[in-house]
Amino acid sequence: MAGLARRGGDPGLITRFAPSPTGPLHLGHAYSALLAWDMARAAGGQFLLRIEDIDQSRSRFEWEAQIYDDLHWLGLSWPLPVMRQSDRLPRYALALRRLSDMGLTYPCRCRRADIEAAAGAPQEGVPQYGPDGRIYPGTCRARPMAEAGPEDAIRLNMEKATAYRPLRGFTETGPTHGGQHLLDRPSLIETVGDIVLLRRGMGGSYHLSVVVDDADQGIIHVTRGEDLFEATQIHVLLQGLLGLPTPIYHHHRLIRDATGKRLAKRDDARAIARYRDEGATPADIRAMVGLAG
Ligand code: GLU
Repeated sequence: MAGLARRGGDPGLITRFAPSPTGPLHLGHAYSALLAWDMARAAGGQFLLRIEDIDQSRSRFEWEAQIYDDLHWLGLSWPLPVMRQSDRLPRYALALRRLSDMGLTYPCRCRRADIEAAAGAPQEGVPQYGPDGRIYPGTCRARPMAEAGPEDAIRLNMEKATAYRPLRGFTETGPTHGGQHLLDRPSLIETVGDIVLLRRGMGGSYHLSVVVDDADQGIIHVTRGEDLFEATQIHVLLQGLLGLPTPIYHHHRLIRDATGKRLAKRDDARAIARYRDEGATPADIRAMVGLAG
C-alpha cells in the first residue's frame, strides 16, 4: 500500500484526484486532475485516483467508466487497483466506532425539515450554513449511541470533539489561502457544528470517508477545489482524533463559465467528452483551463 512508503525514506509527493461518479467530468475536473498530475510529476511523485462513490444512490457505474476514459484520454495514468469507496465500508465503520468509543458521537433522527424548523428564524450575526450544510441545532445531542438504529444518522458532538485533544494546524499551498492555518475551537463549534459522520442508509459521510481514504492512500498533498477549503478544518480535526497524518493541502481556483458561475456536474455543456467529440485535443483542454502543455 502507498501509505507504507511514508514510513521509510522520502515518499515523494503523492497526490490524488477523487471524483464522484455522479455525472460527466467537466473542465473543472480536468483542471483539478491535471494540476494534481503535474504537481506529482514535477516532484517525481505519484498521482493516485479514487472513486468517491459513497453515495450509492447517486453514483453510476457508467459515470465511473467515463471517468477512466476521460482521464486516460487526457494522458493521465494511475496505479491499479483504483480505490473505490463502496469497497471500503468496513473501514469507515471502524473509524466511526473509534469516535463513538471516545464518546464523541450521537444518533440523530432529524430530517431536513426538522432541522429547518428547529433552527428557527435567522438571527443577525449567527451563521446558518457551514461546510457541512445547515448548522445543526442540536435537537438529538443528548441521545445515547445505544439508541442508534437504521433510521438514524450519526453526528459528531463538536463541543466534545474539539476539547478531546489539542487541535492541530495544517499547511496550505494554494493561491487563495496559502500559509499555515490553526483550527479554532469557537469557530468549529459556531460555524461548522455537529457534522454528520454517517448518513442514513450510507456507509459513511463524505468527511469521514475522505479522511480515512487520504490516510490509507498515503496522500502527502491533497489537491482539490477552493470550494472545499472550509471543509478542511473538519478533515484536520478528524485526522487528529483518529491519529491519522495531516497532509498538506492545496485548494486551487475554480473554473467558471462566461458569466463567472462555477461549473456544476449538470453543466454537461462543458463535459470533457463533449469537447473531445467535437474534435478538441488534450492540449486544447489544458489551454482552456490555463495550464501549460
Ligand atoms: N469527491 C469530491 C468531488 O467530486 C472531491 C472530494 C475531495 O477532493 O476531497 O467533488
